[in-house]
Amino acid sequence: MKNLLDFTLEELQSWMKENGESAFRAKQIFSWIYNEVWNYDDMKNIPNSLKHKLKDNFYIGIPKIEEVYESSLDGTKKMLLRFNDGNIIESVIMQYKHGNSICISTQVGCRMGCKFCASTLGGRVRDLTCGEILSQVIIGKKICGDRISNIVLMGSGEPLDNFDNVMKFLKIVNADYGLNIGQRHITLSTCGIVPKIIELADKEMSITLAISLHAFSDEKRKEIMPIANKYSITEILDACRYYIDKTGRRITFEYSLVSGVNDGKEDARSLAKILKGMLCHVNLIPVNEIKENTLKRPSKKVIEEFEEILKSNGIEVTVRREMGADINAACGQLRKSYIESAK
Ligand code: SF4
Repeated sequence: MKNLLDFTLEELQSWMKENGESAFRAKQIFSWIYNEVWNYDDMKNIPNSLKHKLKDNFYIGIPKIEEVYESSLDGTKKMLLRFNDGNIIESVIMQYKHGNSICISTQVGCRMGCKFCASTLGGRVRDLTCGEILSQVIIGKKICGDRISNIVLMGSGEPLDNFDNVMKFLKIVNADYGLNIGQRHITLSTCGIVPKIIELADKEMSITLAISLHAFSDEKRKEIMPIANKYSITEILDACRYYIDKTGRRITFEYSLVSGVNDGKEDARSLAKILKGMLCHVNLIPVNEIKENTLKRPSKKVIEEFEEILKSNGIEVTVRREMGADINAACGQLRKSYIESAK
């Protein structure tokens, strides 16, 4: 049995033709699925003979909603979703004035080992298929009862470590038979796998690339991100310039501020220096304090000073607003505490 959500329109059309059906049925079936009809018997314009064939060959891989936690502070909703094989992942829906955003996972766990991240504590369990990545957006739409207008690939997993599935997901989610979400409304966040950034640039899409930078020097970066042992900041910035050349898109640099580690004034000046002249934007993220490590969040004053130094050096910067602080909304935290409490 195959997951229908893993299919592009062209692939399903081919299957229809190979199985003696009209190709236009593929679009009808997707139209039902993307409008939240997940039972073949409810697909009114599909003949019974085809429904039987579909039942014999495909399942519609919508995961089970294990839990939905809603923040009483800002309405952020965190979903725990369970796939057929029992693996649980998490996705977060954030409601802003300009529309609904969803932060989705691309792998069960992650093997990148970033010190500040709960998703990596149990390593990478497996990649998600493109249909499993897509199903998070489909369920998110159902849960918020409204269109999802922005997607960020910033949940559990390193998207560029699951490249082919993520590329196929981007194609389907953007298609008019799919969820029709424009590439400009999609952000892919990576810890900096240089050859894959170049491969992504060569696809010339208009998605936003976000780099988890978190330090301005290789030495400092190695302290918190093992990937820094493989690719230097210079190599990452060169790959980013290539991405900008190919796509014309501004790069976002994510910088987690950790008290006493990378939040000093000198750190801010050094960061401004390496980014000077680049079409970019810095997103400062006061670190989430998780119980598994001792990283501390800087004071408000320190955060403001850091922001000011970047601004005065001509770097565009914002401080990320904390969403869902009361529901463990940071990457990987909820899945982990849920699995632990179920043991
Ligand atoms: S921050 Fe991203 S890349 Fe790093 S361990 Fe967590 S999920 Fe993986």
